[in-house]
Parts: sequence; C-alpha cells; structure tokens
Amino acid sequence: MIYLDNAATTAVTDNVFDAMLPWLKEGYGNASSVYSLGRKSAIALNRARALCAEVLGCEPRSIFFTSGGTESDNHAVFAAAEHARAAGKTHIITSAIEHHAILEPLKALEKQGFRITRLPVYNNGIVRISDLEAAICPDTGFVTIMAANNEIGTIQPVDEAGAICRERGIPFHTDAVQAFGNTPLDVSRYDMLSVSGHKLHAPKGVGLLYVREPAALPPFILGGAQQNGKRAGTENVAGIVGLAEAMRAAAGSAGAKRKKLLALRQRLISGISAIKGARLNGDPERRLASNVNFSFTGIEGEALVLQLDLASIAVSSGSACASGSLDPSHVLTALGLSHDEARSSIRITMSDLTSSADIDGLLEALPPIIDKLRSLRGIEL
Ligand code: PLP
Repeated sequence: MIYLDNAATTAVTDNVFDAMLPWLKEGYGNASSVYSLGRKSAIALNRARALCAEVLGCEPRSIFFTSGGTESDNHAVFAAAEHARAAGKTHIITSAIEHHAILEPLKALEKQGFRITRLPVYNNGIVRISDLEAAICPDTGFVTIMAANNEIGTIQPVDEAGAICRERGIPFHTDAVQAFGNTPLDVSRYDMLSVSGHKLHAPKGVGLLYVREPAALPPFILGGAQQNGKRAGTENVAGIVGLAEAMRAAAGSAGAKRKKLLALRQRLISGISAIKGARLNGDPERRLASNVNFSFTGIEGEALVLQLDLASIAVSSGSACASGSLDPSHVLTALGLSHDEARSSIRITMSDLTSSADIDGLLEALPPIIDKLRSLRGIEL
C-alpha cells in the first residue's frame, strides 16, 4: 500500500508506540491517585508537559492537553470570544480557508451577534497582511489564522500577523495542526496555538492548546481539578506521553524531513504537471513540503481517489472531513476555482515515512487512470 494521505492522519511510529506502551500496561494508575501507581502517572504527565513546553519554547503552565485539534480550536475560539465580549468587542477576523473546527464555532458566534471578517486568500491561497491591517478596527476582539492549510498546504504569514495583533493588544490564535513539525513556528508571537497528535505520528484523540496567559482562560470541561481545574477528566496519560514523544521527534527531525520532502514534492509537481489538463492548486513555493494538490480537467476527484485505491494508493479528494459531502471545498473555491474545477482535485500528502518508491508508484499509476476516467466520459484533451 502506498499511503499518501498524511494530512488526514499518520501512522503511529515505533518510538511513539514504545513510549506509550508502559502507560497502557503496568503504568495504568490514575494520575490523581495519591499512592505510588498514581503518582507515577502524574510524573509521566508532568514530564510530557515539560517536554511539549520545551519543544514549543513556552512555559509548562501554558500547555493544556485536549482530545485533538478540533477541541483545541473550538476552545480557543469560544474562550477568546468570551474574553472579547467581556471587553465590549464583537468583531473577529479569520481567513476564508480555515478548517471547519474554526469556521463552525465562528458561525455559531455570528448567530450570537459577533461580526466575522473572513480574509480572502487570492489565487495563491495566502492571506495578505495588508488585508489584516485594513480589517482591524477598534471593535476587533480576536484574530485566528491557520499556520498552514490542510488542503493546499499554503503557509500563512502568522508570525507577522501575530506581531501586528500583539502591537494592537488583540489576542491571536493559530491553528498549527498541519504546520507543527512541517514549518517553523515562533510561539512567542501567538497567544494561543492548536496542535493535534495524529498528524505527527501520535495516536488519534490527543492534542494540545498552548495558551500564553492561562490565568484568564475559561475552563474547557467542568467536573474535576485536572489540568489546573481548566479541563476536568482523567487524563489520557498514554496518549499524552505519545504526543510529547511525537513532538520531540518531529522537532528534532524537522530540517532533514523538510529537505527530503522538498525533493519528493518537486518530483511530484513536475511529474503530475506533465499530465494534460493538470493544474497545481495553491502557491507552488509557499506551501508545506509535504503537500501537493492538483485539479484535472474532466475528472471527478472522488472517482480518481477510488481508482487509485484499487491500485492500493491512498490519497484524498479535498479534506478528509469534507470529502463525502457534495459541496465543493471552501478552500478551493476561495482560490477562485469553479465548482467543477474544485471537484476535480486530489490532495497528495507525505510524511517522513514516505519513500521515493511511493512517489514512483503514484507517478506511474496516475496517467493511465486519468486517461481511463476521461475516456469513460468521452473527454479528449
Ligand atoms: N485543524 C486542521 C488544520 C486540520 O487539518 C484538522 C484535521 O484534519 C483539525 C484542525 C482537526 O484536528 P483533529 O482531527 O485532531 O480533531
């Protein structure tokens, strides 16, 4: 099997699995228990928190472990909105290409009377700082812009955006679920940041929210004293230990990974561009080394995904959560693609486990499948 859908999820690597295993087996104590079995779990949790903080370059008290990127994003948005409303501010700025974990909470806030500005991304898929500056008004209470997009991989100018917001005293959050480990992040520029474990070789169902000033953070979940009373519930010790190990490994290998993936991405872009009617979506350079996204004239992205699956190759059409829906991707339409063009797209995403042979396999399988799908629809280019 050739797995090229690493933006959807990644395989758990041996180092992460090995780090987690003791906390699933003999180290099963509840981290809140006072006897030694429990205390061992509490020590593991503290170590994991310290490691995540060290990797991010922040204080351990700024780390809140969550169930993943969706929870971190939801809480960041609702917490910041509560803070803004208390200060009498009801305007929020975001980008048009955020993940639904940001867009849906914002829609809910819109219904409660917040005004939302969604910054355009033009045809390269990148927000412009001048648009952010123009959108900020005295009423702006919060800005959230993703660090890298999940569908087209474009890298957003979040360090600059964070600095501008800091100057103006506006809290700034970034969804770094796709960016962490794939592009440098300067946490000192942001007030909040979301990370998800399963995008970086930790298991599904664990993530974190970094919060620079945690004192003002409203609780995520009520019902216990865990995580300074902010997020009640018995901690997922094994998952958290796995997340910390995955973050450590990702930070340590980021340079080598980027170099390797840039070469593979170049091969993918030139190989696929040679197919008639193929068009790369999003900026060719300012995108994650792990991502390419192409549209193919006269092709249904879903049909292409299914044909590639028959050849044991996993890619996705649009984002994993949006695929299956009939609506074209909001990210691709924000680039100015028509509905047909947006629906003719596939996303190919790599990880450090991706090999050159995987790319050879895809580049060999793709052209005949595209020819076949076009001929079935009587399309000739
Ligand atoms: N944000 C982005 C940019 C994502 O790509 C995803 C997952 O696809 C999420 C948030 C949600 O993360 P999780 O699957 O951990 O809930």
